[in-house]
Amino acid sequence: MTDTLGTTGLILNEPLLWEKGRKGRCGYSLPRRDVPLSSLDPGLTGSGPDFPDLSEVDLVRHYTRLSTWNFGVDTGTYPLGSCTMKYNPKTNERQAGLPGFAAAHPLLPPELAQGALALMHDLQRYLAEITGMDAVSLQPAAGAHGELAGMLLIYAYHRSKGTQRSKIIIPDTAHGTNPASAALCGYRPIPIQSGAQGVLTAEVVAAVMDEETAGIMVTNPNTLGLFEQNIRQITDIVHAKGGLVYCDGANMNAVMGIVDLKAIGIDVLHLNLHKTFSTPHGGGGPGSGPVCVHKRLEPFLPVPRVIKEGDTYTLSEEFPQSIGKLDTFHGHFGIMVRAYSYILSLGPDGLKKASQLAVLNANYIKEKLKGTFHLTHDRPCMHECVFSDKNQASYGVTTLDMAKRLMDYGFHPPTIYFPLVVPGAIMIEPTETECKEDIDRFIDAMQQIAREAAENPQLLHDAPHKSKVRRLDEVSAARKPCLTG
Ligand SMILES: *Cc1c(COP(=O)(O)O)cnc(C)c1O
Repeated sequence: MTDTLGTTGLILNEPLLWEKGRKGRCGYSLPRRDVPLSSLDPGLTGSGPDFPDLSEVDLVRHYTRLSTWNFGVDTGTYPLGSCTMKYNPKTNERQAGLPGFAAAHPLLPPELAQGALALMHDLQRYLAEITGMDAVSLQPAAGAHGELAGMLLIYAYHRSKGTQRSKIIIPDTAHGTNPASAALCGYRPIPIQSGAQGVLTAEVVAAVMDEETAGIMVTNPNTLGLFEQNIRQITDIVHAKGGLVYCDGANMNAVMGIVDLKAIGIDVLHLNLHKTFSTPHGGGGPGSGPVCVHKRLEPFLPVPRVIKEGDTYTLSEEFPQSIGKLDTFHGHFGIMVRAYSYILSLGPDGLKKASQLAVLNANYIKEKLKGTFHLTHDRPCMHECVFSDKNQASYGVTTLDMAKRLMDYGFHPPTIYFPLVVPGAIMIEPTETECKEDIDRFIDAMQQIAREAAENPQLLHDAPHKSKVRRLDEVSAARKPCLTG
């Protein structure tokens, strides 16, 4: 690392704290010691942990500079498909930070945690109402954890009927975590293909559904951003053979208050509160993946469950058929507060409107770009639209090149090479919180990139040009990670 600071304007380079430290530098001042030195841990030999010596300003600048390298939903448009990177209103953060919530100890007895329990109880009711389902558990800590919870519920249901089944049907347009969750629960995933329309047909499900099959896991809207329009027939087929229907509801942002999931035959669904219901996500922070169930699965929900008796809330373990506990304490409470605040501030009409605008924005982009980029399915989409690099292939330009070039125009790239059913996929999810001007700027940038692909492919191969770090060797970065700097 050189001593030169500037790279692009005032975006400053930053060495590791260990490189920056200078022996004897210090970030605190304490009165001079007037007692003999004593080791905190008398058993500890050697010089203790290897911490760099830094001043307060060294430390503050280090983290502040690093924070300027970040790009997030608060910086600009972030159309990462399947991830719902929408703006999260700050009031929801503020409610989650209220000391009564943020500092509540998870071991408080229910008598001293009535407010927190009431919030969880009401949030469960709201999520049930939004989805149309009968009962909810807030325990799962992420989307994939909700999927596992759903699989365990289905497993417990079949066991209670005295039979056990070995397979789960999983379409090629399901999210990649689905087969993993089924396999973790001991089920064998049976892959099926979506039809030419990009959605499942009743026939392919009927062809594989049998009495050895525990059920189906559908992602709806699916990973092509399309609504599974044959879902009623499909759920009927699965139910007729004694199976259950799992819905991956991480894409709920398209259908809040619009689709009644119980009415279309769903038995269990998970939601991603950290996508649809306003918690900042990405980078491995905490999530929340509640499961919402049909009443036939309610006896199996995780314990403890929040129960309301009169005006009092308690925690109950008295559910003998429960699949047990899935998380420490009650799940990620801070995320529940954000979701609760978000739902109350939007209300039923606001939630529905949010979904309608998310769908409108995605369709606007689809229509504006479909002449330029190859659109895999030219039909109305839900919250996201999927293109590919087919039209640019003759110039030797790939999806990766175009995604990298977008950064030069100030946009976070969309999701690329997913879903796997589309080679060279470019999956764009604008969300409802982008204004028309920003969406138009994004469309202009994409069109400009398509022109560059035809006229100067090398420009794209070398992109990004303006970012702090240029094109990375992604294979080496994954295979030989440098964890020390
Ligand atoms: C994000 C997502 C998941 C996984 O959620 P995590 O919280 O990352 O575990 C599952 N299914 C779909 C459709 C998703 O978009």
